Amino acid sequence: MIDAHTHLHPPRLFAAIRRWFAEKSTWGIEHQPTEPADVAAALRAAGVERFIFFSYAHKPGMARDINEWLAQTARELGGAGIPLATVHPGDPEYVRDLELALDAGCAGLKLHEDVQRVTVDDPRLDPIYKRIAARGGVLLAHVGPIPWSDPIGGAARVECVVQRHPQLKVVVAHMGAPESSAYFALMARHANLYLDTTMAFAPASPFALSFDASQIAAHAGRILYGTDFPNIPYAYGEERVGLERLALSAPELHAILHDNAARLFANFW
Ligand SMILES: [Zn+2]
Repeated sequence: MIDAHTHLHPPRLFAAIRRWFAEKSTWGIEHQPTEPADVAAALRAAGVERFIFFSYAHKPGMARDINEWLAQTARELGGAGIPLATVHPGDPEYVRDLELALDAGCAGLKLHEDVQRVTVDDPRLDPIYKRIAARGGVLLAHVGPIPWSDPIGGAARVECVVQRHPQLKVVVAHMGAPESSAYFALMARHANLYLDTTMAFAPASPFALSFDASQIAAHAGRILYGTDFPNIPYAYGEERVGLERLALSAPELHAILHDNAARLFANFW
């Protein structure tokens, strides 16, 4: 398996995130690992050969340090994990931040609209997207608020991005909830648009969605297995359990669990 959506953060940031979960949620995730080597070991034990990991800068002044930490961590993990960079357009040299991160081995950018207070179609990100596309990299975006409830116009914002940057490979996290149907329609028109499964299939997930198996089968070439590990309030294997319940064909399931990410990140392993 390749897990295309995991989180590693510098220690102080991770401690703050865990404090937030402890105070503001009932998830009870204190037992999940946070040290990169421990997270990598848990993934390996669960059958994950390789994974994509990222953090995020929720305010200006953090991105460059976070990216240096991500690149260094990737080196320490010996190639099992590939990082996606973060930028904050409030930083004076945010384009340079991205260039440095790509040079250091990051495979693209993770954007989290809600946490970063930046929308995916913010024109300040255009020079970022141009540079990522030129290197065959990937934008992975969490679009809209958490938890999602009402339609939030995210698919329309993503459409602006893929129209402006048709060569950019874009992965929308969490199956694009709550606008999955809009994304399926958009995928028919844009070949470089993908979704990830993160927290959408695990039966125990607070954000589980229900899909027709035929819908997933029809898009099996452009859905990436992802989990949000280690910040999940259930056992690691649950996301796969949910996917297996769809009774997809073996090639379809394998595409989602492995092949699509292997292809998408082929330049970076
Ligand atoms: Zn995530």
